[in-house]
Amino acid sequence: MAKSPEEKKKKKSTGWDDIPESSRFSDYRECYERYSFPKGEWSALRLVGDIVTLDVHWVPTLKKDGKETAFAQVCRKNLSEDEPCPNCKGGIKIQSITLSNAILRDKQEDKPNKKKRKQPTDKKFREKDDKFWSPIGVVQFPPGAAQKVKNLGRLNKAKDKKTGKTKNFHLNHPKFGRDISVLFDPTQSGSGMYDIQRDDRMPLTSEEKGYLLFNLEKVFDHIPKASSMVESLQKAYNNELFDNENCNMKAIKSIVRGKTNFEEEKEEDLKDMDSEQLLKFAKKKKIKLSKKEKKLKKKKLRELIEDRMEKDNDDNDNDNDNNDDDLSEMSEKELLKFAKSEDIPLSKKEKKLKKKKLRELIESRKGEDDNDDDDNDNDNDNDDSLDEDLDEDLDNDNDNDNDNDNDNDNDNDNDNNDDDNDNNDDDLDDLTPKELLKYAKKKKIKLSKKEKKLSKKKLKKLIESKN
Ligand SMILES: [Zn+2]
Repeated sequence: MAKSPEEKKKKKSTGWDDIPESSRFSDYRECYERYSFPKGEWSALRLVGDIVTLDVHWVPTLKKDGKETAFAQVCRKNLSEDEPCPNCKGGIKIQSITLSNAILRDKQEDKPNKKKRKQPTDKKFREKDDKFWSPIGVVQFPPGAAQKVKNLGRLNKAKDKKTGKTKNFHLNHPKFGRDISVLFDPTQSGSGMYDIQRDDRMPLTSEEKGYLLFNLEKVFDHIPKASSMVESLQKAYNNELFDNENCNMKAIKSIVRGKTNFEEEKEEDLKDMDSEQLLKFAKKKKIKLSKKEKKLKKKKLRELIEDRMEKDNDDNDNDNDNNDDDLSEMSEKELLKFAKSEDIPLSKKEKKLKKKKLRELIESRKGEDDNDDDDNDNDNDNDDSLDEDLDEDLDNDNDNDNDNDNDNDNDNDNDNNDDDNDNNDDDLDDLTPKELLKYAKKKKIKLSKKEKKLSKKKLKKLIESKN
């Protein structure tokens, strides 16, 4: 089951459509048209649609003229908190930025005639290379400026005609929102760089409401790989752009010398996929997803699939496809099939039970069955379920020496071998939960499902105690 990322990639790329977005774009700003505020001038705009807030690192680099500057790289922790991020590890400056679509009033003033303003009807979002006219651009606010916009929204009150009550409306509200004017002054420092004023209240016209916006969630498809982050750190290091002011020098040295390992995760590929690709992937891997699960947001969906894949791995390790946990995923039909395959007798009446009751019945029968087998039966099938039970015992108590089971003996042998190995516990400190799980697997340390979900610290302690 364990495949190198390369192997997986080869298998996945069956057509040009399968190439993940991020291999074409490396910069998150590539998925929208950015509006940069002109220096020292007021820009009039109307914020529209939902916003995206994300953390970016400012990585030092050199301009063509040799001057020092920094470029934004999305922190990998935007994917998940557990994600190893070379820039975080290296102590590179991090900042939370807010992105919003905006109607750029200047651009809108120069609009062509109505015919030329027509948008395609088959699109949900505007994309960067779209040629049709639009006054929509994406603005990026640093935290201070975003806070100003938020505060202006707090001052923006309007009376709801229906209820007669006065309410606050954020500035992007289609009816009760307001235009803003933004002055960008790079000669100022900190939050003084952005002066933001609210303008008149104006409900959006129906044409304005219909403008196609950029899909800002796409920025999460453009998070750089750990390896390309390490590359840019290396470049900056070679250009002597690091000092103790802008990074953690010790950590940076360890990273650029390859001593801190950011091995791309096995599931790395999944992170490049959008929801549709994830569903395709799940289908190919025969990972069952309920209708509800299929509608999960990308991130949740990916986590679910990863979870199921891990489960799958565990199943394979046990050489046993029928795992109790799977029952909860089965439909009535599948449950009946399962009962049949396990020789669990069910009356006609019982076969018509609802899913939950049926599952509970099968589970209880299965338990009885296994107990009987312990005493009498030497049938092959039943040996499987016996192994499974013993495995579960092992989960609960790994040091149970009274067990006569072969698996257990093997485990003990391995444990002894491992003690002679080079791997020492100190390494565990640097591992992410995923890597810890990998480590546990390698060491044949059995962990229950519950234990696998422990926080990094607890997991580490547990593994150390079992090791
Ligand atoms: Zn980071």
